Amino acid sequence: MVLYPFPESHPFSHEVQFALQTVRQAAQLTQQVQAEMTGPALTKSDRSPVTVADFAAQALVGCLLSEAFPNDPLVAEENAAELRTPEGNPILIQVTDFVRRVLSPITPQAVCEGIDRGAAAPTRRFWILDPVDGTKGFLRGGQYAVALALIVDGQVHVGVLGCPGLSEASRPDNEGLGSLVVAVHGQGVWSTPLNGNGEFHRLQVSKRRHPAEAQLLRSFEADHTNANQMDEVARVLQIQAPAMAMDSQAKYAVLAAGAGDLLLRLLSPKQPNYREKIWDQAAGALVVEEAGGCMSDLDGHPLDFTAGRTLARNRGVLASNGHLHETALRALRQLRV
Ligand code: AMP
Ligand code: MG
Repeated sequence: MVLYPFPESHPFSHEVQFALQTVRQAAQLTQQVQAEMTGPALTKSDRSPVTVADFAAQALVGCLLSEAFPNDPLVAEENAAELRTPEGNPILIQVTDFVRRVLSPITPQAVCEGIDRGAAAPTRRFWILDPVDGTKGFLRGGQYAVALALIVDGQVHVGVLGCPGLSEASRPDNEGLGSLVVAVHGQGVWSTPLNGNGEFHRLQVSKRRHPAEAQLLRSFEADHTNANQMDEVARVLQIQAPAMAMDSQAKYAVLAAGAGDLLLRLLSPKQPNYREKIWDQAAGALVVEEAGGCMSDLDGHPLDFTAGRTLARNRGVLASNGHLHETALRALRQLRV
């Protein structure tokens, strides 16, 4: 346990401090929304629920980024188009009320501008945000995460996950202090309580080498994966324990903390050509790698964060403790996944 693990002389030390503080504030804001409101606010064209929490968290991060790093682009999941319409106005007012708890005073117009900062295109150096990853988990009382990453020249240099429903980055616990998980390229990944002023402890993947003993992690939402193929993979690897189903990049924190060993994002039969969104993977990918784990797509290729707003050159994701990676890739090839 240490008070603060990252040296001030590190070239990205300001970015690390910014990301830590910003994700903490954004995640705490989402917790307030969850405590005080329920229900989806709007339905996007893809029918996933968008809540006041998504908009408030993105507005907050967008505005704070403009103050701290005004020239850095932000690529983020949401946009304010519907909030700018007359029908969206009541939600904009609610969102603004929440954002004012951190940034007072702020106008609804500035809230929309903060959100729309996330419409930028990826460049040489940019930030990636998922304001509420696992919106369905958020609404269901499951896991969710605020995920922020900094990419420079295609490399994730900083990745932070705010996980209100995880304790010690490793177990679901909705009554606990939550976890703030911070990975810095070359500096490891560390967890500290999201709420309170706890110390940081370093995360390390498991040492498990025998697939039969592996704990598999998968999406809770059946439509985000292929449950039949998941069972097939588990059978080929002779995995004994049932897969742990969990929403959001909280799964990557659990893997990094050694409480899971293998994580599969298989392609849903309903959307076989689905390409992962970069905001669903960037922070989590560095969290896994800095814990000693391994990230690739289902073909074993490294994730390529230079292809736009999606991982257009990758198919699905395989994350592991490293020791089980080749074995899992062999099983995927054998099953022609
Ligand atoms: P998870 O909670 O791990 O299931 O991942 C949540 C993320 O899955 C959401 O943020 C969506 O962006 C993403 N998603 C939506 N549709 C799909 C799909 N068909 N396959 C994989 N992921 C998806
Ligand atoms: Mg997401």
